[in-house]
Amino acid sequence: MHVQVLFPINAEAFTYLVPDELQSKVKTGIRVLAPFKKGKKVGIVVGFDKDPSVAVIARGQSPRSNLKTDEDIATSRNVGTRNDKNELNDKKEITLKTIEAVLDEEPLIPENLLKLIKWTGQYYISTSGLALKNAVPSGIFEGKKSGKSRITYDDIRPVKILNLNSEQKKALSEITNVQSGAFLLHGVTGSGKTEVYLRAIEALGDKEAIVLVPEIALTAQIIDRFRSRFHEKVAFFHSGLSPGERISQWWKIRNGDVKVALGVRSAVFAPFKNLGLIVIDEEHEASYKQFEGLRYSARDVALARAKIEGIKIVLGSATPSMETFYHAKKGNIRYLELKHRIEQKPMPRVEIIDMTKEDKRALSYSNKLLSVLKENVSRGHQSLIMLNRRGYSPFLMCTDCGYTYKCPACSITLTYHKDTKTLNCHYCNSYLEPQDFCPECKGTKTKYIGIGTQRIEEELRALIPELSLKRMDRDTTKRKLAHYRIVKDMEEKKIDVLLGTQMVAKGHDFPDVTIAAVVFADVALNLPDFRSSERTFQLFTQLAGRAGRGDVAGEVYIQTYEPLHYVFDYVRNHDYEGFYKKEIELRKELSYPPFGKLIRIILSFKNKDSAVKTMKDISKRIEKIIHPPLGKGGRGDYQVNISDIEILGPAPAPIEKIRNYWRWHLILKGKNSKSLRHTALGILEITKDIKSVRIDVDVDPINLL
Ligand code: ADP
Ligand code: ZN
Repeated sequence: MHVQVLFPINAEAFTYLVPDELQSKVKTGIRVLAPFKKGKKVGIVVGFDKDPSVAVIARGQSPRSNLKTDEDIATSRNVGTRNDKNELNDKKEITLKTIEAVLDEEPLIPENLLKLIKWTGQYYISTSGLALKNAVPSGIFEGKKSGKSRITYDDIRPVKILNLNSEQKKALSEITNVQSGAFLLHGVTGSGKTEVYLRAIEALGDKEAIVLVPEIALTAQIIDRFRSRFHEKVAFFHSGLSPGERISQWWKIRNGDVKVALGVRSAVFAPFKNLGLIVIDEEHEASYKQFEGLRYSARDVALARAKIEGIKIVLGSATPSMETFYHAKKGNIRYLELKHRIEQKPMPRVEIIDMTKEDKRALSYSNKLLSVLKENVSRGHQSLIMLNRRGYSPFLMCTDCGYTYKCPACSITLTYHKDTKTLNCHYCNSYLEPQDFCPECKGTKTKYIGIGTQRIEEELRALIPELSLKRMDRDTTKRKLAHYRIVKDMEEKKIDVLLGTQMVAKGHDFPDVTIAAVVFADVALNLPDFRSSERTFQLFTQLAGRAGRGDVAGEVYIQTYEPLHYVFDYVRNHDYEGFYKKEIELRKELSYPPFGKLIRIILSFKNKDSAVKTMKDISKRIEKIIHPPLGKGGRGDYQVNISDIEILGPAPAPIEKIRNYWRWHLILKGKNSKSLRHTALGILEITKDIKSVRIDVDVDPINLL
């Protein structure tokens, strides 16, 4: 008997022999110990067959090429056998190894989850093994013990029994009335979406639920709301967990001890066996997409999981992504709307402050904003201030020669951080210490150019010393639970003004926040990315949504040097539909999603000159497969019909160098996802033998930098 064993490494499954005494114990989904390279590895049985000739029939796509720099890739050919065509065509003598032990009696990974893992590897043009690695905590394979939780949450508060309003009731009944299908719950900020999720889960009977939230929104508040409803029946997944805690949360779910898994991205792979519902809160959030390794979108994997399991899924947002709203309009997703805030509270008033007209007495604050902040404190209300850039200043410049510090490893200017007195790279996390003399001209005078959260904090402390002020950005929330504590202090009104990056804009429900402000809106407006308007609109609408959730109406102030930018009209009028109509036209014109799909191929090189040379070679190879002379010749396996597909590039990526790698990219755009994938696979295939390049594929990229 042969089995296919999938390891948590970047590869497809390997085939092994099963010794007679283990044959009755082998099942799909169990762990086995198998010889691998010179050692042993634990993997999962994903398929088996008694007839060896069937066992080695090609499965799935050809393996990823050009992964030589990835430590994970299995290179050894005499270990097991890779299940791909090439291996078969090699007609090499196949010597199969034998599995050594069966480690489980019952399947560890539920069957549907295995299906999802395979789907993920395939859809993202990666491997099932890498998907497995992302889906299951590594300690599970190693048989590590659960860790005790180091997190102690506050006591659970008793549930306030709420009567749903009529909009909430209608949405809930539509969700509970069906067993399967996708919903968009489009509810303005403060319309009570979370309450709908909670009730929908309660209505599941003995079925289980996954609730995905963006990292940044996984605040004390949502954790508390789920704990007070489901007590110990909730498992949490977030980046603050230790490996041991991750394992114990995973086992809780696997053993059926909890009803809900609440967490970020990877919670989409929670090992439930009786799943009934998936909720994706703030479905438009970019952080659902993983930016390295397996570049999956947890939202899209969740949609696939709902289909595989035949269950329902609710996508919630005040500012749905263009894709989701488009599909809701077309009727592919059922549309549920919460038009009003709870108790008919008004939406906040939004004022755009034109900074070009400002007779500024302060570097970062208009006179208007300063006066409303002062007044707000004197009334005992709280305020939020956002600047979407951390650190003190984005440039430290020599005033003699204009020199600015760049990261030695990335084509990025370094940001000065005053607390650590370092120049930090926000891409690779390396840092430098500023020199006493300019490295270029030996000048001694430097100037801070531009503002970051540390600087606007310092300035505000000087301008209004009586404020109780806290900063929330990635630097102040590194330590475990730091984020949770800040939110608690905010709730307990120990803070007058909470200032920070987009972290302050997301998810919070502070009834006493009446003012929300953006210091320098322009940071977000003009990124060279087709989604930059959409993101800006979403971010400002989310921030505005934090103001006026209690008894006093909210006010929002947005400072900008470009007050006529069209995004502001829609933010001011809380006009999602208007924004959508304008933006969708642009997307249509350019065949961007949702009209066309994108696959981005990123090619990274150690050496700049060889990059240029190799890219020329690659361009030629691509031309050969996409421009066959009409009617004759060139009929290789990977011919691409260019009428379906647009290939942009190859061109240097907007961020040319990251972590010492020179980056080029190709963007494939097309309506037909099959030919798009075919093209991507073709390009991988014809570049397979090039050794000096690392190739990453990003299916449905949301960032083209
Ligand atoms: P959203 O997620 O849509 O921004 P939330 O779910 O955070 O809104 O709800 C906003 C606030 O309204 C929360 O404090 C919540 O407890 C409260 N709330 C929700 N539904 C009701 C209701 N039916 N009656 C009274 N308060 C409600
Ligand atoms: Zn760097």
